[in-house]
Amino acid sequence: MMTPQTILQTKFGYDTFRNGQAKVIDNVLDHQNVLAIMPTGGGKSLCYQIPALMMDGITLVISPLISLMKDQVDALNENGIPATFINSSLEYDEVEERFEMARQQQIKLLYVSPERLDSGYFNQLAQLPVSLVAIDEAHCISQWGHDFRPSYLKLTDIIKQLPTEPTIIALTATATPKVANDIMDRLNLVDEVKTGFSRPNLSFKVVKDQNSDQFLVDYLTVNHEQSGIIYASTRKEVERLTLMLKRHHIKSTMYHGGMNRDERRQNQDDFLYDRVPVMVATNAFGMGIDKSNVRFVIHDQVPGSLESYYQEAGRAGRDGLDSEAILLFKLNDVQIQHFFIDQSDMDEQTKQREYDKLQAMTQYANTQQCLQQYILDYFGEKSASCGHCGNCLDDRESQDITVSAQQVLSCVKRMHERFGKSLVAQVLTGSKVKRVMQMRFDELSTYGLMHNRSQKDVSELIDFLTASNYLYADGGQYPILKVAPRGVSVLRGDEQVFRKTAVKVQQALAEDDELFEELRTLRRELAEQQGVPPFVIFSDKTLHDMCAI
Ligand code: ADP
Ligand code: MG
Ligand code: ZN
Repeated sequence: MMTPQTILQTKFGYDTFRNGQAKVIDNVLDHQNVLAIMPTGGGKSLCYQIPALMMDGITLVISPLISLMKDQVDALNENGIPATFINSSLEYDEVEERFEMARQQQIKLLYVSPERLDSGYFNQLAQLPVSLVAIDEAHCISQWGHDFRPSYLKLTDIIKQLPTEPTIIALTATATPKVANDIMDRLNLVDEVKTGFSRPNLSFKVVKDQNSDQFLVDYLTVNHEQSGIIYASTRKEVERLTLMLKRHHIKSTMYHGGMNRDERRQNQDDFLYDRVPVMVATNAFGMGIDKSNVRFVIHDQVPGSLESYYQEAGRAGRDGLDSEAILLFKLNDVQIQHFFIDQSDMDEQTKQREYDKLQAMTQYANTQQCLQQYILDYFGEKSASCGHCGNCLDDRESQDITVSAQQVLSCVKRMHERFGKSLVAQVLTGSKVKRVMQMRFDELSTYGLMHNRSQKDVSELIDFLTASNYLYADGGQYPILKVAPRGVSVLRGDEQVFRKTAVKVQQALAEDDELFEELRTLRRELAEQQGVPPFVIFSDKTLHDMCAI
């Protein structure tokens, strides 16, 4: 009797199972419908390929990418495993021929794209002895996922109608509990096998407020000849970066959806076979790419979600050696992403979800927590700090910013938690823009409290407080700031706030007579403008009272 272990060795040439593989395979062989959640490169394919060889009949593999299908089938055939695929790249005759092979049980694995399933092939499929259905990239079935595809939604019905009542295995690298639950519900799965998602050999880093072209040139000069990927968000940007690197005599190649197939293939191979060390690409590049020695993945622009970010960054260091994942964060890029969502023709609900994902991504760039831990937290996994990410290694001194934090938090409270970041920053810095001047007077009691700081500075402080869960940004396109439970303890004086900053923050206004005098003037003007009696001019004591709630 062949066991999974012997098949692993004899058919695939590996000695031992990776984390989670054996368990998933056992489940499938027991006819338990299972969701396998493993990181990119974790070895999900074997979880259905091995059972496919052990079960009677054939295994239907639903896979979203045509290029990937062919590679997988080729690899299986090379190992002497009878497999084939059916997709839109084939002529009618070829499709018929392959179905005939399947009916004759001359193949064990049949790869199909989800689009093909619901467009006419069902009757053919229903005649096949399907014993197992494997749904790869199963997060595509969930609207909470980062890559939702409507054709995946129909899968459930189609599978239910198969007369052979096959076992189902769904596989994904997207680990948020919400997405996982959604997949389980839609496909009636009973078991979930989730392996750890941490990538201890990856060092995460966020680079802020730097000229990113300059950063790239410096980085690539120092890490000369090492293999790495630079992700940019648009084709135009990919081309611009490629030219820019060329001018600096840095060897790179590029990949994006606007290039023709041959060119893409050529460039991809140049990178895969180490003829060119650096690949500049849009996110069209990488799915299914199995290059082990990628030493760094740099994002020149912030992606739309942490799911995408982790998946793309995870292409570094698959060989287990130390590698870097660097995000070049510019606030402007977030605004552009925001604009894309706004302009897209997604329905309102989907837009809201996209805004929320972008928000989580932005918080990643602003947290001072361990970056690996932050990501794992987001995916619902508890972990210790990694000890080697940008934040773990940040040796700037922590400063007590409790008073500043209280000022921001009380401003949010006094404005009745009805406004977003920019307005809060404008009120605190004593801006005279119309929008502020027209606010209700009772909402302006913290007006000008931070007038000695710039709008940008206060915005960043708000980002930090949001990323650290003192505040939270509620919902969608124009998120409204609200005070989180942790922020309430700060307002009550039960918790102190620390932040690492390069500059010494000046926080206590009342200690400084001159500033205090400026503030007095500012607030008097405001009172006059609004036609109300001037504020009670506050002292140290009233400042403290104002911060309390
Ligand atoms: P995923 O789909 O989870 O991203 P793959 O199934 O493509 O990952 O596997 C990634 C790589 O790991 C492949 O090259 C595969 O051959 C290899 N691999 C999978 N399982 C094992 C194992 N048990 N031992 C060694 N290598 C493995
Ligand atoms: Mg895969
Ligand atoms: Zn860390």
